[in-house]
Amino acid sequence: MSSSILEHIVPVDCHYIRDERACAFLLIEGDRASFVDNNTVFAVPYLLSELESRNIKRENVDYIIVTHVHLDHAGGTAELLKHCPNAKVLAHPKASRHLANPSRLIEGARAVYGEPLFTQLYGNIEPVPEDRIYSVADNETIKWGDRELKFMHTLGHATHSICIYDSKINGVFTGDSFGIGQSDKQTFENLFIIISTAPSDFDPLEAEKTISRILELSPDYVFLPHYGIHKNPTQIADRLLRALDSMKILINTAIAKQISDDKLMEWLCPRVEESIRDQIRWCGFNDVEKAMEWLGDDPRINAMGLMVAIKKMRAKR
Ligand SMILES: [Zn+2]
Repeated sequence: MSSSILEHIVPVDCHYIRDERACAFLLIEGDRASFVDNNTVFAVPYLLSELESRNIKRENVDYIIVTHVHLDHAGGTAELLKHCPNAKVLAHPKASRHLANPSRLIEGARAVYGEPLFTQLYGNIEPVPEDRIYSVADNETIKWGDRELKFMHTLGHATHSICIYDSKINGVFTGDSFGIGQSDKQTFENLFIIISTAPSDFDPLEAEKTISRILELSPDYVFLPHYGIHKNPTQIADRLLRALDSMKILINTAIAKQISDDKLMEWLCPRVEESIRDQIRWCGFNDVEKAMEWLGDDPRINAMGLMVAIKKMRAKR
């Protein structure tokens, strides 16, 4: 399967922040196509040129599937839709609401990235027309050509997140619910992977459940927007569950030590970074600095996600 897999599923580099940092997936079904994720408005030309290079008409794009509405996955939805006149957007019901009215998303991402980086990364985000969005139910399946796509509502990374099982390849499009990391482009062997704890919905217990739910499908592959096609999902899951344990320890320690809200980031940042370095080493990937460079600002963003989770847990007590 590994050599022919790319005839059905193509990771398209969106050149987001750096090369091979974020991709969208082009699904090919005969002369029809669908996309899973679309990164940002700036990625749309790459997606359209991939279609063109495969002689697939824009009119033949059936679905624009959104794993979740974080803007590095769904920021280009409205723009891509303009070029694909027959496509329908498939998303989690909560994601659908944000796509139709992106004001809160924009506000949230501005808070994380600040100006001018927000505009530089995401540009102008327009609403998606409601009549072109279809909200998928948990466990809903859609037959598309000779493959079946099964949609699952998956918590842990984001409350508007779905994972999509593709029967043709026996693989799962995981959004950011199954870690972020790199694989070997030829062998699809995982090189390194870390858990994503980005704000503002990270929940370690739900994240564990999602990982189990993905494994229950016995997939041969997982497709990660950050980045590419990965085989051996069971091995990856072991690494992610270990990483989640270390995140739980950080959360519990911060709570037990009563680190005040205003000191949380200062306390978390070096510890999250240290944990990420460990996670990279657990994969047997020796060039930790290269992996850290690829991750860029993610350690800080992951620390922010833990901070939000800690504040929520305290508020519940
Ligand atoms: Zn995300």
